[in-house]
Amino acid sequence: MISLSNLVRKNIWNLIPYSSARDEFSGEADVYLDANENPFPNEGLNRYPDPMSRDVKNKLSLLKQVPSDQIFLGNGSDEVVDILIRIFCEPGLDHIITLPPTYGMYQVSADVNNILIKKVLLTDDFQPVVHEIRAATNEHSKILFICTPNNPTGNQINVSIVEELLNTFPGIVVIDEAYSDFSSEPSWSARLDAYPQLVVMQTFSKAWGLAGIRLGMAFAGKEIIDLMNKVKPPYNVNLLTQAAALSALDHPERMESDKAAILKQRVQLESDLKTIPFVLKVYPSDANFLLVKVADADRVYQFLVSRGVVVRNRNTVPRCEGCLRMTVGTPEENERLMTAMYSFFNS
Ligand SMILES: *Cc1c(COP(=O)(O)O)cnc(C)c1O
Repeated sequence: MISLSNLVRKNIWNLIPYSSARDEFSGEADVYLDANENPFPNEGLNRYPDPMSRDVKNKLSLLKQVPSDQIFLGNGSDEVVDILIRIFCEPGLDHIITLPPTYGMYQVSADVNNILIKKVLLTDDFQPVVHEIRAATNEHSKILFICTPNNPTGNQINVSIVEELLNTFPGIVVIDEAYSDFSSEPSWSARLDAYPQLVVMQTFSKAWGLAGIRLGMAFAGKEIIDLMNKVKPPYNVNLLTQAAALSALDHPERMESDKAAILKQRVQLESDLKTIPFVLKVYPSDANFLLVKVADADRVYQFLVSRGVVVRNRNTVPRCEGCLRMTVGTPEENERLMTAMYSFFNS
């Protein structure tokens, strides 16, 4: 059994968190003169937000079937990644392990915090190599990041491999499920009780269509969530964001219908792309994007830009040589993409 106190940095374990006015008094009052707020015009935005985003967590708890005190909310998943690294990794001493090709923020966040990073490449079919991860692991391996469905490859990481890593990795295992709403696999958040070192991340940026509000979620055991709340800036999720999330959560059926439309478009786009001779491969996807291998990716990318269509060029990423990552858009947007692809073929 993993002991959390041995994994957490001493300064964080001993940290006395900032106590805001809204932490020290969270009931209902008639007159609030405790936070040096401006009393005008008193229509809501003059007040600090709930530091713990309780209303949002309560709604999420029902939807996700995770207790409120096992939910953390951050200013995007990016803040969740940063906070986890700062809780568990001692600068210059500890390291994280990532499984590229994968999301770039784990590395950037580690670099910002002067945390070393060990990279263990996925196989050609984008699955982790457990024995190589084990060989890279030592007592300073504090966090393993697993992204599933993975960005930019679009595939699920095999459940049995994730289980093996959860059973053997000596540190925190973070499963980034930014795209899990698009896949049919159940969330790993259903397995939190079995794995006390597990942190599951999700986001409002993709299926919920709210990238602009910056709201990321983490689900974990209460001890880890308490540490995250201790380290976060007091008012990290602002009032407008909490309000937007609450109204979105009142209508999960809207998210479901957007998602269904995107999945339908993904099937269409995949079959359209496969009719193009210079498209060498369209990788199977469990997300809202397709990884597409083409002949001469840089030229295709530049041509698409010249036609006003921007995709993500992943040509220099190991294992993604020759690949472009294409987000599934509206039918009209996908049509624009396909028209440009055909023009490149005929040019
Ligand atoms: C888009 C994405 C996120 C979301 O990040 P936010 O900061 O919540 O917008 C997280 N992880 C991965 C792998 C992503 O692709």
